[in-house]
This record gives sequence, structure tokens and C-alpha cells, in this order.
Amino acid sequence: MPNQQKILHTLKEYFGYDSFRPLQEKIINSVFDGMDNLVIMPTGGGKSICYQLPALLLPGITLVISPLIALMKDQVDGLIANGVQASFINSSQSENDQQKIHQKLKDNQIKLLYVAPESLSFLDTIFSEIEISLIAIDEAHCISSWGHDFRPAYTQLGYLKNKFPKVPLIALTATADKATRQDICDQLNIPDATQHLASFDRKNLSLEVRPGNKRIEQILNFLVNKPNDSGIIYCLSRKTTETLAEKLKDKGYKAEAYHAGIEHQKRANVQEGFINDTVQIVCATIAFGMGIDKSNVRWVIHYNLPKNIEGYYQEIGRAGRDGIPSSTLLFHSYADVVQLQKFADTSGNKEVQLAKLDRMQQYAESLSCRRKILLSYFGELIEKDCGNCDVCKNPPTFIDGTIIAQKALSTVTRIKEQEPIGTIIDVLRGAQNAIVLDKGYQEVKTYGIGNDIAWRDWQQYIIQLINQGYLEIAFHQNNKLKLTALSRKVLFEGERVSLAHLKELEKTKQVILDQSKKGSTPNLFEKLRQLRLELAKEAGIPAYQVFNDATLKEMEKVRPMTDEEFMQINGVGRQKMQNYGYQFIKEIINFSAKKTKKKKSSKKGNTHKETLALYKEGMSIEEIAIKRQLAQSTIFSHIMKLYNEGEQIDLTQFVNKQDVLAIKKAKKELEQPEGLKSYFEHFNGTIDYNSIRLALIILEKENSVVK
Ligand code: ADP
Ligand code: ZN
Repeated sequence: MPNQQKILHTLKEYFGYDSFRPLQEKIINSVFDGMDNLVIMPTGGGKSICYQLPALLLPGITLVISPLIALMKDQVDGLIANGVQASFINSSQSENDQQKIHQKLKDNQIKLLYVAPESLSFLDTIFSEIEISLIAIDEAHCISSWGHDFRPAYTQLGYLKNKFPKVPLIALTATADKATRQDICDQLNIPDATQHLASFDRKNLSLEVRPGNKRIEQILNFLVNKPNDSGIIYCLSRKTTETLAEKLKDKGYKAEAYHAGIEHQKRANVQEGFINDTVQIVCATIAFGMGIDKSNVRWVIHYNLPKNIEGYYQEIGRAGRDGIPSSTLLFHSYADVVQLQKFADTSGNKEVQLAKLDRMQQYAESLSCRRKILLSYFGELIEKDCGNCDVCKNPPTFIDGTIIAQKALSTVTRIKEQEPIGTIIDVLRGAQNAIVLDKGYQEVKTYGIGNDIAWRDWQQYIIQLINQGYLEIAFHQNNKLKLTALSRKVLFEGERVSLAHLKELEKTKQVILDQSKKGSTPNLFEKLRQLRLELAKEAGIPAYQVFNDATLKEMEKVRPMTDEEFMQINGVGRQKMQNYGYQFIKEIINFSAKKTKKKKSSKKGNTHKETLALYKEGMSIEEIAIKRQLAQSTIFSHIMKLYNEGEQIDLTQFVNKQDVLAIKKAKKELEQPEGLKSYFEHFNGTIDYNSIRLALIILEKENSVVK
């Protein structure tokens, strides 16, 4: 097992991070120990590093099973941008391409190989010739029919453990419910895997629920202080996505609809526009978002009630993956509930679905901290209210609900935890309906003790008790209400319970103006963002794969002006430093120079001329950098600029001759190379972007001379 220092060094060199997020380190150590692991982390929690980092340090190949081809390509591009040898195999590739990958695998030139489960058979013929060090199964809940996204192709994955009994397996998912978890381990034949359950708390996401009336008006209101921020609006129907996008377009927003019925190319364009920040808002059915890894989504709105909490949490989780504060808003309406109940009617597993819908509705109607409810759904208790949800920001007033709680809990006890919420209320209120009378509940001691409270109010109170953990619903047993460890405290240990005053209900439901005002729009940030977009286009990758927003924000704050300072920024690894360092540093220096321009009587704009003077004195780039106290990459950019302006500079001294020849050859071989990236990939990252850029300039010059 590599030592901690080596592991941390690799984290910085390849991924640019200085430290691990909670659990990452523990999981990675467990992988190095050769154990099987199940990782449960929310979307954006940082699952990928848990297998990508070990992959770099293990001797052989890490096989990554992933369900979505689009996501696969994205991840591979991201890894290559970080200087990691990665590739994927799927059915859309030509046989020739696959042959090439096979060869690379045999030559040990690939550290991570992404495969869809359907395509595993492509590897059968070469499994015996390659060394597999680790198998990672992403979106592992797809193997379980308990989960919400079952995929039949995943069920074959159980054979992997039999075929490679010595190879450690790591399964990763954002679905936390207990039944699904154990099912995943059983089906993958790793019943004893260590389970790592990360906190599901995404503190940077604000939570808000509003009644679903005048939704368009509310959305426009919501957007007022988010003029440039990317966001997703999830809708239940395709039609809604289209009408909504149209209305937003009318108001001048760059909005597009996205659903499975839209033609493939158009959909791809919308997705790409969103990734590259040219489309600001996507109005989508749930089909959107799975396959993208855009980290700067600033807000998510649910136009309709989602059908369960897992789905809702995953969807809001697509906001703020970079850790920057982001807003979420859910519209709640009873029409949606009815609609979703109908959907549940037509599909299997109806009872479970309805029960999950109930929980979703309870969340939307909650009067206590919403984050507490969400987290308790995933089995996690937080002590304090979050302060970042609408209920916390505008809290209802509370009454002493101890007696109410005692009445409800003792009724549940007396009917032996055998009934769902409705029957409990009937018993409390002394109803004389068939269920009560057939089962003889009129004999129960608490029968009728709650007849002073209206049925609907009882429902609200019991929901509050569930949300506070005093009761729980057994979804797999006809939604029977069950006691919890906390119930005992109320019944026997004198614990006091406080409940929200129901008259306050209306008040909390009033529209709360969005308070997450953005800080003043930073000028430098916009500049860096623009630069990022240009570089991304040049390299043919999504903008966020150059650097994410959090990294740009840190650059804005710290303003690194040397290579060393730049490398200190969280999110900058060695490869990206080499590829993008000098442009970003240049932008930062330029920006800072402009600001102080008036004060200084400097010959601004001539900085590269100063470099030229020193160059003519025979100094090397390194020496000039030291003399001028600028980054080497900055001096390098001056040289390129001077060359382009026609100065007599011999560029060949800055780039390896062999590299130039290799690039010349590649230029012929690659028909229509698309930007620098084609070259970069062609050489598997062994020739850096600066050298490619230089070589191409040299070759171009050669050409024009020949002509
Ligand atoms: P998940 O797969 O769990 O949804 P990812 O692995 O895509 O999450 O990570 C989410 C984001 O967090 C990415 O932008 C990633 O670069 C970032 N990230 C992951 N680990 C760290 C870390 N240790 N420090 C800083 N950022 C990190
Ligand atoms: Zn809260």
C-alpha cells in the first residue's frame, strides 16, 4: 500500500486538490487494503476520486462499469485533461477503434477503462491477457430492483466477483436506503463489503417549497437576481417543458426544452449549450442531467412535485456541485399529487411507489426544518436546524404538543403498530367506520381521546411527529405506523414535544422572496470565465473540464501571478497547470495591471517588448522570468506573441525536435484534426499543449516558406 504522502501527492498532481473530502481517504485506504467496498455518497459528494486515485497507483487496469455512454465519454475526457490515461469501450465504436484499445490495454497504456455492462463481452477475449487491479461499479443501485433506476443489464455483474475473486470491487451509488444497499452487495456477490455512508447533507443548497400557483410569475421573480446563472427546471410533462421554455425565451432568457421526444441532434445541442454556458436554462423532464457533470449549476426548480424523495434529492443535487451556494425551489400542488398517484396505478410495485409519494408530500408540507426531514429519510440525524431552508428562515410558532404526541403514540402502541396513519386518526377521533368496528378498535383504551382535533389537523400533527422521528412509516408493510426509539422517551421518560401551531400554516406558505442575493458580480471572474470558454472550445472539451467555478473563484480571490502560486490553487493539478497556466496567469496579471494603470505611469502593453530586450541580450526564458519576477509561462506567452508579430525568434529551441517531427507526422495522419486536443489525445498526453501549440506554429511557417 502506498504511503499517505504519496497518496496526497497524487491527489494534488492529477486532480489538483490539497485535501480529501470526508470519507474519501478512508475508502481509498480500504481499496488499497484489497477489501470490497460499497460507497454511498450524495451526488456531488466526490465518489469518482475513490476509484480514480487508486487506479493511478495500482499496477494494472481499473475497470469502471458505468451505465451511460454520454457520462462515460465525459469522465474519460475529464481524466485525460488531468493527464490520466483513460479510455472507454462501447457499442458505438468501430471495430477498428476497439482493436486499438485492446492493443493499448495489452501494452499497459491505459489505467482506467470505462465499460457499459452491455459491452463487457467485448473484453472476454482479452481478459486473460490483461491485469485487472480494481473493478469499480458506478451507479450501483441500477442492479437492484429496490432502487429507483433498475437496469436489467446490471444484473449480470454478479459474475465479476466469481471471475476475478482476488480483485477488489468498489460499488458506488447515491441511493441510500438500507434495503437497496444490502441488495446491491448481495447481487454483486460482495455480501461482506465495507459500507461507507457519507453524509447526505449538501449545506450549500438552500431549500424552499412554495404553493404551486402562478408558477411562471414566481419563476420570473426568482430569476430577477440570477441574470446569468445556469439552472434547470424539472417538469412532469414534455408539453410543460416546451411552453415554459417559450415563455422564458419571450422574457429574454436563453432557455431551451429538453425531453426524450426531441430529436437526438437537437437534444445534444441543448446539452452542449448548457454545458458551455450558452444556454442558461433547461426546462426538462427527468431525462436531463444524468449524463452531465456540469459543476456550476446555480439553481434547480421543480415545477411539479417529484414522485419520490430519492429522485428529488438527486435532481436538486445537480446544483452546486462545486460547493458554491445554490438555490432550489419546489412547487407543491395537490393536482400534481393526484396525477402522480395515477402514474403509480399503472406501474408495478404500486404500494411502495404510493408510500414514497406520501413521504414526498409530507416533505413539501413540513413545518419543521426541511433538511432534517430529507436527511432523516436517508437515515441521518442532524442535531440543529439547518438555517438554510424556508422553514428555518421563516419559522412557524410552536405549541407544547406533548399531550397530542402521547395520545398518538399510545394509540399506535395499543393497536400494536398494525395500522396506517388514516386508521390511527380514526381511532383517535372515535370514528365508527367499518375498519374500526371490524377490528374491534372501539375497545382500545385511547379510542376517541382525540375527538377535539379535526381530522386534517391530526394528519398534520402526525406528519410532524414522523418528521421529528417520533414515528416512522413501514413502507414495505402497507405503510403501518411504527414506533421508534424516540417514541419511548415521550411515552415513558417524560420527553416534551413541540409542534408547529397549525394556524401558522398559511403564513409560512406565503411567498418568500429569494434572499440568496449574489455578491457583486466580480469582473475578474467573468474574464476568467470567458477565457475558460475559449480554451475549452480550442481543446474541444466542456468548459467545466478546464476548471470549475470554485477554482476560478479562488483564482479571483488569490490572484496567483507565478507558476508556483497558480499550482497552489485548489483544482489545479500538474497537467492543467501546463496546459492552461500561462493564459490564466496572463489574464490575472493583465487585469491587475489595468486596475493600477492610472496610478503607475507604466509603459503598459509593452511588457512583451521588455521580454524581447532581455531575450536579445541572450537570456533564457528561465532567467528572464526571474529577472522580471513573472511566471515562466508568461514569458513564454510573450515569446509567442513576439514571434507572431514577426520578430526573429528561433522557436525550435523551445521545443523538442522529435516532438515537432512526431506532430508533423500526426498532422498528416489525422485527417481533419479538431483543435489541439486531437493531437494531445493522439499522443496520449505525452506531448503537452504548449509544445503542440509551438510545433504547429513552426510547421505552419515551414509550409508558407515552401510555398
Ligand atoms: P459524484 O460522482 O459523487 O457526484 P464527483 O466525483 O463528480 O461527485 O465530484 C463532485 C465534484 O467535487 C467534482 O467537481 C470534483 O472535482 C469535486 N471534488 C471531488 N473531490 C474533491 C476534493 N477532495 N477536493 C475538492 N473538490 C473535490
Ligand atoms: Zn432548515
